[in-house]
Amino acid sequence: MSALRPSNLPKLAVCPCYEGSATAGPAAERGSLLDAAFRAELTGSALLRDKLSSEEQSAVSWSVSVVRSIAGRNRILAREEDCRTRMLGLEGTADAVVPARLTHFDLKTGLRRNYREQMAAYSLGLMEAHFADSWTAHLLYCDLREIESLPFTHAEAREIVEAVIVHVENPHREPVPCEYCGWCAKADTCPARRPLAADGLRAVQIPFDFEAVVTDPAELGRFLAACAVVEEFSERAKTIAVERLKSGGELPGWKLVTRQGSDFVDAVTVGHHIQAMGFGPVLAAYGTLSASKFRELWTERMGGKPFPEEAVKHSPPISYLEQNSKPNPNKPTS
Ligand code: SF4
Repeated sequence: MSALRPSNLPKLAVCPCYEGSATAGPAAERGSLLDAAFRAELTGSALLRDKLSSEEQSAVSWSVSVVRSIAGRNRILAREEDCRTRMLGLEGTADAVVPARLTHFDLKTGLRRNYREQMAAYSLGLMEAHFADSWTAHLLYCDLREIESLPFTHAEAREIVEAVIVHVENPHREPVPCEYCGWCAKADTCPARRPLAADGLRAVQIPFDFEAVVTDPAELGRFLAACAVVEEFSERAKTIAVERLKSGGELPGWKLVTRQGSDFVDAVTVGHHIQAMGFGPVLAAYGTLSASKFRELWTERMGGKPFPEEAVKHSPPISYLEQNSKPNPNKPTS
């Protein structure tokens, strides 16, 4: 089956050789369940609610309330057959469409990521189906309670999707190690990753001069790129090793250790005692609440009272490393 599907386009834009794994991981399964519950709630059914945790129910309810508030009195399409769309030979399904507002919605779980190419594809198909020149895709990050709105003209959306198709259909395309490798069906065998992993392992051979690595910026960048690939292989190897030991197999030098789960008191029980214990100390022990969660609770509970923006505090920015160029596995080490 071709990897060219709207949901794969953001990955294919980075690595034209990406191929989705045939088995869905737990995160993907959770995403599909929340998607189905979101559609069900928008079409007036609460069938899947009992399969969700209370936090997930609240995430879906938040998403549904965003769609309803943007749609106003306009019709919301959420049945799969009403949200299917085609574009440039591809086919996909948006989560909810409000044709009168020239907009569609896509529910996303987990952290914010790049979905621009996928949203351009849906927007292109929907613009063609509804004879529109412009369209807005709303990404609903339900766990974070955040909305990202991506407006497209017909020409922009077409250009974005065509660029990925050309990239993928290039007979000389090359794999590009990237953040999506862990989800790729070729992760264990990819010719672009193997030399990088071997490179990382070479670095620990004797004599390994760490000082020389960290003092040379080019060497340091190359070392980190190699480590990233080795770390990923290491995580996969650990999963396989745990399964082997659990099923009675042997792994020389390793054993399975089972730790007791942590003890906890649930929120309902804390609620029973909170008055006697004092709200202040209990809330201080719970810690801070994210601004988006507080905003959501305020909207739910305060009956239209203006949100106190001055209550939102900002934590200091966090710096972290992100790889921004393709490592070259063929470059000599020194
Ligand atoms: S493993 Fe990574 S580099 Fe290789 S094809 Fe898949 S996404 Fe591309």
